[in-house]
This record gives sequence, C-alpha cells and structure tokens, in this order.
Amino acid sequence: MYITHEPDDKDAWTCICGNTPPDDGFYPCDENGNELEPDIDGPWDGVRYVCNACGRIIDQNTLEIIGFRPDADLTQDEKTAILADLDIGRSSVQRILNGRKKR
Ligand SMILES: [Zn+2]
Repeated sequence: MYITHEPDDKDAWTCICGNTPPDDGFYPCDENGNELEPDIDGPWDGVRYVCNACGRIIDQNTLEIIGFRPDADLTQDEKTAILADLDIGRSSVQRILNGRKKR
C-alpha cells in the first residue's frame, strides 16, 4: 500500500486519506508515530514520516505505508489491510492490533 505524489513534484505527497503537505502535513516520526526532530544526530531513523491527518506511517524513500500511530484515525479493517501488506509475522500483527506497549 503506497501514498502518491504530484507527477511533477515527488515531495508533494498525497496520503491515502487525502492529506497533503499544505493541509495537515507530514512529520518525521518514530515507529509509534511520535513526532521527532529531523536531526541527523537525533533519534529519527531518516525514513519514517507520519501523516498528521490519519496517522499512517510512511517510508519516505518508497512511499510505502509501513504502519500507523496507535491512535490513528483508521478502521480496524484499514489497520488489518496495512499490516497484511507488511512482511511481519502473524503474532506481530496481533500485537500491533491489540496496542503496542509504550517503552
Ligand atoms: Zn493520511
């Protein structure tokens, strides 16, 4: 599952929910969708962005949906569909659907 971008601007993202940078925007985040500073020396992995509208987490290199915030504005079916696309085990899917533990 992938988001799209304007044909002539690969940074002008359009999320599956319809969000774009001028709307609610996208922010660098950790694996749980918590916003991070895009600091080279900081904790950000340089890959993950979160859609600030729906909470989907995006790989900025491939534009693939690679997760979502625990409080994402998604239905259970949408969450299941995202997880089904990912190369993770069934037990991981269940753990995510049941809510990740906070570190
Ligand atoms: Zn979105």
